[in-house]
Amino acid sequence: MRFDVITLFPEMVETAAGFGVTGKAIEKNHVQLSVWNPRDYTHDRHRTVDDRPYGGGPGMVMKYQPLHDAVLAAKAIGSNQAKVVYLSPQGKPLSQALFAEASQLSQLILVAGRYEGIDERFIQLDCDEEWSAGDYVISGGELAALIVIDGITRLLPNVLGDEESANQDSHSDGLLEYPQFTRPEHVEGLSVPKVLMGGNHADIECWRLKQALGRTWQKRPDLLEKKQLNAEQASLLQQFKNELDVKGCSDE
Ligand code: SAM
Repeated sequence: MRFDVITLFPEMVETAAGFGVTGKAIEKNHVQLSVWNPRDYTHDRHRTVDDRPYGGGPGMVMKYQPLHDAVLAAKAIGSNQAKVVYLSPQGKPLSQALFAEASQLSQLILVAGRYEGIDERFIQLDCDEEWSAGDYVISGGELAALIVIDGITRLLPNVLGDEESANQDSHSDGLLEYPQFTRPEHVEGLSVPKVLMGGNHADIECWRLKQALGRTWQKRPDLLEKKQLNAEQASLLQQFKNELDVKGCSDE
């Protein structure tokens, strides 16, 4: 899969994507990342990418033409089936489901805005969708684009060392992940749950599912409301709640 990011700060995207899972995926050519600076597609001496908003008001607005030409350049280097997404606080919220769907694409062109945003006609004419990192405003789309690149890349074949780890992550099945522990066994009076030390894989699986259900119920009840629990899951969640009532914790 290839990612193309249209941005006034190409180094920011390239540098941040160069670390960890995304960095390795790029190095091993599991994904390709190119950055495109709209400034390189301007035709005036000052390389102008923005102008004042019609109607007045604060700030500057990114101009249509440099963005449009940068998208054309990105499309020319990739497939003709590219999806163009504008990162925007007005867009569809990012989610694991959105990433899973997008991981099937061959090319994703991500447009990072700056200033007060970009000319509405670019969104209408050149963008297929708008995606939002959340119900808040940040100064530019680059960080949101990096979230998208990271979230999708880890779902692509051969990217994660252990193929299972993406499947078990929080949100992959509508639940939060169970708690994780590593050495040492005791930290400040808190011990690793005994079941994890016992080596019985069926018991461990059962405990983990119960914890995943329980902590989703505790931390994100809205997720549970969207999920249809089967009989086993419903019973494990009930056990989790009962254990909380009895002991104030549920780690055995
Ligand atoms: N005036 C715009 C508005 O109210 O909708 C916000 C402009 S914001 C300061 C500049 C750029 O940051 C936007 O063009 C967009 O690309 C990016 N941005 C800001 N918040 C975002 C969010 N929640 N998700 C994705 N991108 C965001």
